[in-house]
Amino acid sequence: MKTVKLVLPFLFLLVLSSCNTKESKIITVNGEIPASEIGKTLHHEHLLVDFIGADSTGYHRWDKNEVVEKVLPYLLEIKKLGYKTLVECTPAYLGRDPELLKILSEKSGIQIITNTGYYSAVGAKFIPPHGFTENPGQIAKRWIAEAKNGIEGSGVFPGFIKIAVERKALEEINRKVVEAAAITHKETGLVIMSHTGLAVPAYQQLAILKEYGVQPSAFIWTHAHNEKNFNKHIEAAQLGSWIAFDNFKPERLERYVEFALLMKKEGLLNKVLFSHDAGWYKPGEPNGGTFRGFTDVEELLIPALEKNGLSQHDIYQLFTANPAEAFKIKIRLTHS
Ligand SMILES: [Zn+2]
Repeated sequence: MKTVKLVLPFLFLLVLSSCNTKESKIITVNGEIPASEIGKTLHHEHLLVDFIGADSTGYHRWDKNEVVEKVLPYLLEIKKLGYKTLVECTPAYLGRDPELLKILSEKSGIQIITNTGYYSAVGAKFIPPHGFTENPGQIAKRWIAEAKNGIEGSGVFPGFIKIAVERKALEEINRKVVEAAAITHKETGLVIMSHTGLAVPAYQQLAILKEYGVQPSAFIWTHAHNEKNFNKHIEAAQLGSWIAFDNFKPERLERYVEFALLMKKEGLLNKVLFSHDAGWYKPGEPNGGTFRGFTDVEELLIPALEKNGLSQHDIYQLFTANPAEAFKIKIRLTHS
C-alpha cells in the first residue's frame, strides 16, 4: 500500500513532464524537426517562380540541375550569415517543386519549408480547373491529403498553407480558398500564410477564420507593409494575427524600422515577421533571369534596428522565436 501511495504521484509527475517536454514540430522538406531547431529564419522568400499560369506551368518548364547551379550560391550566402531556415513561399501551379527544394536543402544545409494551397490573386490565373468547380471542403481535402501523404509522391510534406487573395477586397474565388485554408488548418495545424496587402481583405479573412472557429494566430497577414495605416497592423496583432513586412528593400529601411519601433512600444514585437520576398529563378528567361539575393535584412535592416535601440533579444524574437511560433504545427481554435 505504501509503495502504491509513493508510485502514483510519481507516475502523475512523469505523465505531466512528458506532456511538457512534448516539443512542437515544424515540417521541412527533409522532414519534421523540433520547432526549437528552426534557427535564424527568413520566413518569406522564393527560389523559383513560374508566372506563366496554371494552364501552362509544369516541371517540364525548368531543368533542375540548371536551377540548382543558379540558386545554390544564394543559399550558401545566407548560411554564411548564420541563417538556418528559409521558408519557400511559391505555391503549386506557380512553380512549387518539392524535389528541387529537397536537393537545394541537402546541398546547402539550409532547412527549407514548402507549402500546400492555391494562389487566387491576379484574376485566378494560378488556379487549376478543379479550383473553380469544387467547393471549399473538396479543395481542402486535396490540401489535407498533401499534408498527410506528402506532395505528389515526392516524400516531401508541406509545412504551411499558402494562399493569395485580391489586393482590395475578397472575391468569390478568394473566399473559397480562405475557407479551404480554415478547414485544412483545423485538420492539420498548418499556419495560413495569405498574400494579402491591404487591411480590408486582411480583416475579411480574419472574419472567415472566426466563422470556422480558427484563431487569428493561425493567420499570417502577408505583404502587410502595403497597408499604410499602422493602426490596422496594431489592431490585427492585438487580435493575435501575425503581421508580415516581408518585402524588405534598401529604400524601405526607414519605414520598416519605424514599424518595428512602434510594435516594440506597443508590446507587439512578438507578432512581427520580416523577410525579403526575394529570389528567384524565372523559367523561360536565359539562365533564369536576374536573381535578388537574401542578404539585405542581415546587412541593412538588422543593423538599423539595433542602432535604433532593439536589443539582441528583440532580434532573436523577430528572426528566430517568431518564425518558430508561427510555423509550429498547432491547431489554433477559438474554443478548444
Ligand atoms: Zn512571395
